[in-house]
Amino acid sequence: NKEVMEEIIFHQGDIRDEKFLKKVFLKSLNNGYQIDGVIHFAGLKSVEESIKKPLIYWENNVLGTLNLLKILNLKKCKAFIFSSSATVYGTKNKSPISEDSNTKPINPYGETNLTIEKILESFYKSEETSISISNLRYFNPIGAHNSFRIGENPRGIPNNLFPYLCKVASGQINELKIFGNDWSTRDGTCIRDYIHVMDLADGHIKALDHLMTNDSQLINLNIGTGQGYSVLDLIKTFENINNVKVPFIFSDRRKGDVCKLVANNQRAKKILNWYPKRSIEDMCRDG
Ligand code: UDP
Repeated sequence: NKEVMEEIIFHQGDIRDEKFLKKVFLKSLNNGYQIDGVIHFAGLKSVEESIKKPLIYWENNVLGTLNLLKILNLKKCKAFIFSSSATVYGTKNKSPISEDSNTKPINPYGETNLTIEKILESFYKSEETSISISNLRYFNPIGAHNSFRIGENPRGIPNNLFPYLCKVASGQINELKIFGNDWSTRDGTCIRDYIHVMDLADGHIKALDHLMTNDSQLINLNIGTGQGYSVLDLIKTFENINNVKVPFIFSDRRKGDVCKLVANNQRAKKILNWYPKRSIEDMCRDG
């Protein structure tokens, strides 16, 4: 959208670079704009990579967030949204999972998310700030923008199910490995709460509006549809809606997987007046 692009000022840099962040805030002030809301997406997000390279995860995710908080506090920013994820929950919780469920991550990526949430809590409680904060705990975002110009196309072999499935469907990878068919679910494959990226995006807009127009607060919000689909459900839906074949084989369970992860999304619906609208068919078609 040309109009929107003309309104957006883009600075490319590294969140670990404090000087760069300062410059972004100062430049915008000099141009007559005070940055009063921040949506922080600048995290590394692969569970597997975080196990292999934990230090990079702690450095980028935690140190990067600290850098950002220091500068936005100086500049009196009003609202802060953090891309957290369902990895903060323990594996023993029963789905649907509410925001008050036990938090006990089982990998470095989840640990960095929970640590950031804790930092944000103490930052929120401190007297030096009156900022509003929301931790959006994403479930399994998939799909693409409906222009199809923005989507997920990771370099190399994808870790997550949906981009992997897309690469199999398009013939770039021969077959999909389903991690286990002996789980205690309807068809033996794991259940997840897949959410369309555009519903996720709407959630951020609603959250930012909410924080900017209400009293100072800190809220954790699950961003999922509340509906669970198995790996096989997703493959079948993808095949039907796109009229393609997705060859798959069953393989061993993946280390650290949980059987079922579905959100209780009542809080986000109530507080933000946000309702995910896109179906699993929409997600598979757009992806
Ligand atoms: N999965 C799979 N094959 C893959 C990748 C994932 O069977 O190549 C399964 C995985 O076991 C899980 C589900 O798909 O049950 C979603 O995995 P993903 O990595 O996308 O998300 P997360 O584990 O973070 O929920």
